[in-house]
Amino acid sequence: MNTDYMHQRFQILKLLSDGKFHSGEQLAKKLGISRAAIWKHIQTLQDYQLDVHAVTGKGYRLSPGIELFDAEKILESCPESEIQDLQIFTETTSTNEIILDQISHGSIHRHVVLAEYQESGRGRRGRYWLSRLGSGICLSVGWRFEGSPETLMGLSLATGVGLIRALEKTGIQNAGLKWPNDVLVDGRKLAGILLEMRGESAGPCNVVLGVGINVQRMPARQEGIEQPRTDVETLLGHKISRNELASGVIKELLIMLQRYQEHGFTAFLPEWNTHDCLLGQQAVLLRAGEEITGTVHGVDQQGALLMDINGQTERVISGDVSLRKA
Ligand code: ATP
Repeated sequence: MNTDYMHQRFQILKLLSDGKFHSGEQLAKKLGISRAAIWKHIQTLQDYQLDVHAVTGKGYRLSPGIELFDAEKILESCPESEIQDLQIFTETTSTNEIILDQISHGSIHRHVVLAEYQESGRGRRGRYWLSRLGSGICLSVGWRFEGSPETLMGLSLATGVGLIRALEKTGIQNAGLKWPNDVLVDGRKLAGILLEMRGESAGPCNVVLGVGINVQRMPARQEGIEQPRTDVETLLGHKISRNELASGVIKELLIMLQRYQEHGFTAFLPEWNTHDCLLGQQAVLLRAGEEITGTVHGVDQQGALLMDINGQTERVISGDVSLRKA
């Protein structure tokens, strides 16, 4: 992608983010480009599903305005000493990919990457995470664990616990966790987690924790999301600062990672149980094209799912399985 072109588009987005009218002439003057070029950029922003409209005699307006990520605001409440590196992208492939790419070039410990928009936000097993530009939180944190990958089986679950803590601080008290990696409210997906790692079997292990949170309401029909979803602002009934939420989430994730490093998943087990939305319920396990019904019996000390199937407790590790409410 042409970086000059992207830079111009970001400048226009920044100017429009206040939700006020800006004439094509003013925008063209500020950026030193033609009005026709401005119009082209506006069309691209509309292609990103941003509600930019044009009114004759007044200009362009993004309605409602958006609060773009701001490193200073994020670091204000999240000590710089805890974040080794904070990168904010307007558009990128995926925040996880950015950190994964950096592994071969050096340490990614305590690196944080945020994006206003991901072209190919990832979910588990080739699935995706979709988010409208400027309307959610797409965030990844890099962490280097000295131990082997085996000790990290419960990390995805502990990340869910960290997210619940951050959400509770914003006023969302009823979010639940669905094994192994979804944050739901009343059966609607609010946030997704994708953990990716690179390491040797004996350790150390570089972990990239990717998190996607819906902050603003998405269009009612969003192609590609085939499950019920919700967002922070709908749940709270008011607007929220994305920078405050992002910094709250980063803070909780760093605390969680440190605690996990010291104590492993056991330290998170009680909180997981409190928020496990399928605990004690009938659920369907999708495994290798098979649907197995059973009762969720919680998780063990490593974070494996315990499910009662035909009178036997089976231990299920994540990987190639999905869990659904029966
Ligand atoms: P599993 O239970 O196996 O984790 P999952 O469907 O939750 O299944 P994930 O890989 O966790 O799968 O998440 C990817 C899925 O999340 C996508 O297939 C899509 O249906 C859904 N999804 C994508 N973007 C969003 C979004 N912004 N909000 C809610 N759901 C989304």
